[in-house]
Amino acid sequence: MANNDSTDQVAQEIRQIGFIRWHSRTLMRAHLHLITCILGVVVIGVGFEAFSDPQAWWEWVRRYGTMGLGALLVMFGWTHYLVRMQRAQRRADRANCPKCGVYGSFDVKMHGETPADDDEPEDDQAAGWIRVVCRRCGEQWNI
Ligand SMILES: [Zn+2]
Repeated sequence: MANNDSTDQVAQEIRQIGFIRWHSRTLMRAHLHLITCILGVVVIGVGFEAFSDPQAWWEWVRRYGTMGLGALLVMFGWTHYLVRMQRAQRRADRANCPKCGVYGSFDVKMHGETPADDDEPEDDQAAGWIRVVCRRCGEQWNI
């Protein structure tokens, strides 16, 4: 099963630094990847402009190598940006305690990769479940 959410890692980090800090850190990492993506666009432009009109074979390699590197950076940055944005969004959507409504104030109890035994038909199953306990009222639910 394709799992681009790495539930283990997410649960570990939330446990260590708390949900609020995990969420902002994940958004920050996402934007670093967006910067990588933009850098890739710049590198493509440099390869195209600075190394134009290639004559010798090594000039071809330099030009298309640079542009290929730029394209890799764009793809790498963009996919990682999307994955992290979705990850942050997905968990944030469920970060309110269903009982008392407090946002992001919970402890990780356990986690798993299988879909939770929890009737949430909208669960996209793209990510594993993380069972959390509200710090205020003790309610348990999955994020
Ligand atoms: Zn609560």
